[in-house]
Amino acid sequence: MRQKRGAASGLNVVMLGPPGAGKGTQAERLAQKRGLPRISTGDILREAVQRGTPLGSVAKAAMDAGRLVSDDVMIGIVQERLDRDDARHGFVLDGFPRTVEQASALDRMVNGRGSLVVLDVVVPEDVLVRRLATRRICGRCGSNAAVHWTSACEKCGGPLVARVDDDVEIVRERLKVYQRQSQPLVDYYSVRGTFHAIDGNQPADVVTAAVNAAIAAATAGGVAL
Ligand SMILES: [Zn+2]
Repeated sequence: MRQKRGAASGLNVVMLGPPGAGKGTQAERLAQKRGLPRISTGDILREAVQRGTPLGSVAKAAMDAGRLVSDDVMIGIVQERLDRDDARHGFVLDGFPRTVEQASALDRMVNGRGSLVVLDVVVPEDVLVRRLATRRICGRCGSNAAVHWTSACEKCGGPLVARVDDDVEIVRERLKVYQRQSQPLVDYYSVRGTFHAIDGNQPADVVTAAVNAAIAAATAGGVAL
């Protein structure tokens, strides 16, 4: 059984944002800064499948059949992860929740563990399309190319090539799907004082500063930064 904890004891963060918004980078930076685990749905799903947990097996069966993993299974896998010791002072969730049902389950999980801060990293669609469609990787070592790498990989000198899954039409479709799925979630959270939209159309360090400011505002009177 989980113990009830004081209201200010944990820093529980959900990061929302479309593909290409830089959400993963910001989640990683925030987690490191605060000494919290970054919990990415993709990672914990893979881990549950690899470990062959009961929920992992159900998830694997769904994925093998080309189906989405159900809300119930995702919720169970996240619950198991949040119950682990390293998440007792909080967490940075990346990729969960995806639906209102998952969000309401998360509210129940977080109940008694401190407040839930929701950060929505917002970037205009045209900027996302440009970012995703012009994303390059090194054809030799596979590194993601930094924006200022113009012709060759700065790590190994290899040629920069386009990622095959970043075709403009595919990118636009992915963003449309994201938008359709995430709007109910944003509606669910945006009425709360702990919801913050973050302008993601800025250099990564500026976005990081905005994330930290939002955390400070959301936890005012709580943990010092
Ligand atoms: Zn390289």
